[in-house]
Amino acid sequence: MFIYNYGSAPIKYDSKRPKNITCHNCKEKGQTFVNRYLKYFYILYIPIFTYKYWTKYECVRCKFSANEKDLTKELQEAYRPYKKKKILPIWTFSGLLALIIIPLAYNIFTSNGNQRMLNQVDFLEINQKFDFKTESDNYSIFKVVNINTNKLGIIYNKLEVKSKDNLVEIDSKNNYSDDTIASSIAELKNWIEEDKIIYIYK
Ligand SMILES: [Zn+2]
Repeated sequence: MFIYNYGSAPIKYDSKRPKNITCHNCKEKGQTFVNRYLKYFYILYIPIFTYKYWTKYECVRCKFSANEKDLTKELQEAYRPYKKKKILPIWTFSGLLALIIIPLAYNIFTSNGNQRMLNQVDFLEINQKFDFKTESDNYSIFKVVNINTNKLGIIYNKLEVKSKDNLVEIDSKNNYSDDTIASSIAELKNWIEEDKIIYIYK
């Protein structure tokens, strides 16, 4: 895909008008704004991060506009209290924050799911079913048919599907093999840790 909507955008994020400072061009008092600008990089209208910010002194009366370095030492000193606000708006970093927060949230979410399944395995019942990922990265189901303390017998569904949403379509009695395979609680727990088991039926 060709992403055509990206680039950088300048915005004014802070503006103050000191009442007691005289414009050094038109000599009018209190007409100069201390404006702070930033430039952020965006993709598909989403601000990713801010990479540049600066202050401009802009007189509304004579349209005089100056950067920090263009001002006299005295004016720089007089303006100092008005450019204190250095904190950049957090939303201009939305993309970067999302890149950090989404994987974290995903990890918390999946490890909670795994913890729940690990607990479920301690209370197995006959005919309990498990959705799992096959060797070929498809999905299928197996079923516990006997429980003998920690030893289990499981039977596999003979079919598999491309998407886990379609598992319900293969879950009929005739599709399960007659061949009972030996397994164990410990093995099921390993499969959960390895994200091979994706769902345990209640
Ligand atoms: Zn002026």
